[in-house]
Amino acid sequence: VLNPVFLAPFILVPLVLTAVAYIANVTGLVPVTINDVAWNVPILLSGYLATNSIAGSILQVVCLAISTVIYLPFVSLDNWLKAAQFDRTYKKLVQVPSSGELAELGPRFLGGTDTVGSLARFLAQDMERGLEMREFYLEYQPQVDSRTGRVYGVEALLRWRHPQIGMVPPPVFIGLAEDSGLIKTLGLFVAEEACRQAAEWQKIPGAEKVVISINVSARQLDDLELPDKIFAMTQKYEVPVQNIKVEVTESTAIGGHDGHKVLTKFSQHGFKLAIDDFGMGHTSLSYLREFEVSSLKLDSIISRDVLVSRSSREIVYTIADLCRNLGIELIAEFVEDEAHLLKLRELGCYNIQGYFYSKPLLPEDCLLFILDQHPSYGEVEEEIRNKSVCS
Ligand code: C2E
Ligand code: MG
Ligand code: MG
Repeated sequence: VLNPVFLAPFILVPLVLTAVAYIANVTGLVPVTINDVAWNVPILLSGYLATNSIAGSILQVVCLAISTVIYLPFVSLDNWLKAAQFDRTYKKLVQVPSSGELAELGPRFLGGTDTVGSLARFLAQDMERGLEMREFYLEYQPQVDSRTGRVYGVEALLRWRHPQIGMVPPPVFIGLAEDSGLIKTLGLFVAEEACRQAAEWQKIPGAEKVVISINVSARQLDDLELPDKIFAMTQKYEVPVQNIKVEVTESTAIGGHDGHKVLTKFSQHGFKLAIDDFGMGHTSLSYLREFEVSSLKLDSIISRDVLVSRSSREIVYTIADLCRNLGIELIAEFVEDEAHLLKLRELGCYNIQGYFYSKPLLPEDCLLFILDQHPSYGEVEEEIRNKSVCS
């Protein structure tokens, strides 16, 4: 009643139906009402009892049909307006992670009183249902050694196919899960799924050594039991612990005493550690000193800029040297074309994860990719490396 879209049919329908009934009476198509019928007698029966004629019931059917026809366009309009409103709100929500607001606003974002806040709360709550309904799954993005063209690792990336919205972008649902605390449950789901996958691939010649990286949010690192839980999963699926790599992102400072302890425990169990998006955070170098880091993943901004910015080239060149000296593997993400790949190689970064080789893939496609040979470019000579920074 309070929805203005329905105001017109709400007024129109009784007027039209009254007119129709009146015409039916005066033309003699339907006899006039001769009995009082209690209001709760079901439709059709009430028409018959009131008029003592089947024509009374037929009139009711006709009235029902007319009112449905009058309401239909308004119901469609209402649905369309709601969908348009939802789209506008969803677009705003999707833009939040790239604007950096999610991390800053944190739980306040979930507490927002506007429509974006309501949608955020709805999605955050809906994730538990989605997990139960198996709407979450993993895709794997290959990591290729450009010297040999072989896949040596994959990154497990979580996906959410929402029944109404479709694919929800990971930065959105991961951000919301971090805020709501559900990231801990989601993280365990990812780890278990990755272990199960590693166990499967381990039986396949050519895929048995592939290391699966899983992303772990800073929020998960306050669970002191996390390394033990994931270690127990590797045992359950009989996966060598060194086939699983734990990737922590550097932009959300690991901080805190517990985070430190948890990462140390991961190392002690034998997990490989990777620092994601390395280079843009503030505590980068201290991680290398404090933890046994096996890989660094170049921040996508620095990686992407090497073609246009000399300082980015200098940074990558220096990080590559640092990694070589410390025996750390350096990986570049967001490599989409060959020119970018060649430049990164000249700067000393050979391990590539990006659309140039492959997008994230479903497990069966990823396995085929792993077993395949891909473009390989060999080593880069020292002279070319030195020259490349300036050119
Ligand atoms: P990330 O860990 O840095 O993952 C790399 C992201 O870069 C992925 O996006 C991947 O699809 C994208 N990417 C890689 N190469 C290219 C390229 O050449 N071009 C373009 N345009 N994109 C490329 P995705 O899957 O959307 O994930 C976004 C972020 O969401 C991840 O960034 C990670 O921080 C987070 N995330 C994803 N899965 C998980 C998870 O299971 N747990 C946690 N905690 N975070 C996750
Ligand atoms: Mg990652
Ligand atoms: Mg990354």
